[in-house]
Amino acid sequence: MNDKLEQSLLNIDKESFQNDLIDWFEAEQRNLPWRENKDPYRVWVSEIMLQQTRVDTVIPYFNRFIEWFPTLDDFAEADEEKILKAWEGLGYYSRVRNLHSAVKEVKETYNSVVPDSPEEISKLKGVGPYTAGAILSIAYGKPEPAVDGNVMRVLSRILVIDEDIAKPKTRKTFEKAVRALISHENPSAFNQALMELGALICTPGKPACLLCPVQKHCQAFAAGIQTELPVKIQKKKTRDVPIVAAVLKNERDEFLIHKRSSEGLLANLWEFPNYEMHTSIQPKRAFFEASFLESYRTDVKLSDSFTMLDHVFSHLVWKIDAYRGSLLTDIEESVMKEQNLKWVSKEELEQYAFPVSHQKIWKSYQQTYVMD
Ligand code: SF4
Repeated sequence: MNDKLEQSLLNIDKESFQNDLIDWFEAEQRNLPWRENKDPYRVWVSEIMLQQTRVDTVIPYFNRFIEWFPTLDDFAEADEEKILKAWEGLGYYSRVRNLHSAVKEVKETYNSVVPDSPEEISKLKGVGPYTAGAILSIAYGKPEPAVDGNVMRVLSRILVIDEDIAKPKTRKTFEKAVRALISHENPSAFNQALMELGALICTPGKPACLLCPVQKHCQAFAAGIQTELPVKIQKKKTRDVPIVAAVLKNERDEFLIHKRSSEGLLANLWEFPNYEMHTSIQPKRAFFEASFLESYRTDVKLSDSFTMLDHVFSHLVWKIDAYRGSLLTDIEESVMKEQNLKWVSKEELEQYAFPVSHQKIWKSYQQTYVMD
């Protein structure tokens, strides 16, 4: 442990800090569906959903997920199309794929019981140190750290830790701090309380220090430097990717959709045909028509552009311009198969899992061309 952290920890009355934090949590915690019981499967699902997604957004997804897959075995046996549908709109689809593989492994290797040791649980796909710590502490009452962005923010202020939280290795410092402070009587409430404090009181920007249950323990507050912490050095900018997409309809009122490859970004999700442009100054319609002919040996005619939207990923931004259009000739059956294409009715289309950007294209298409 570094000297600075050690000194900060010495300045804290550990027992009084734990009591103030846990008492506040027990009185003030939000009523959230995953807190109804301590089933490790439910805790696990909620923690994966909550990664990079807000609590308010997660609640209806979580409720529907548990309705569709009430037990770990139900989820392990579900097919991929259905699990993607359950996740549709949450983004970062590798999370649900990893969760599915890991849950299958728990069913096969651990007789459907989520392991309760750090060594075993950490070997499961998609279970990083945060998720492992959250499940072990919340579901199994083990004094393991669960360090996420909220916890780093709160502890960086309480202990005046000025290491860059954007660096992966900084997490270790916070794990050491949690190990030194965690309540062994109630590790579940302790970890959840730190997260809850970060979500409700010790927020980014302007923390509500006057309402804070641990204000008297907070070294940043005492020094008046709470808004300068945590230290986070900005990442480099994202890259813009211009994309031209089209909603193509045939004379049977069906729409052409395409399944993305089983690898890479948004793997196995469905989408409207689209092409990435090398430069945004090419004529978009002509570019799409030529690319479509090259991919599927079929002529297509685009008419008007009905929406433009940006979709932001961590490393790039899709700048999508969407058109409507139709085919001048049919696509051969063999090409449809090889290239994972399907014609679907409006009702069928809604059964497939699309990434958020393509759901927006569809919504805008329906609004623009008023469909019944
Ligand atoms: Fe955060 Fe302020 Fe509480 Fe310190 S006193 S933990 S900065 S809310």
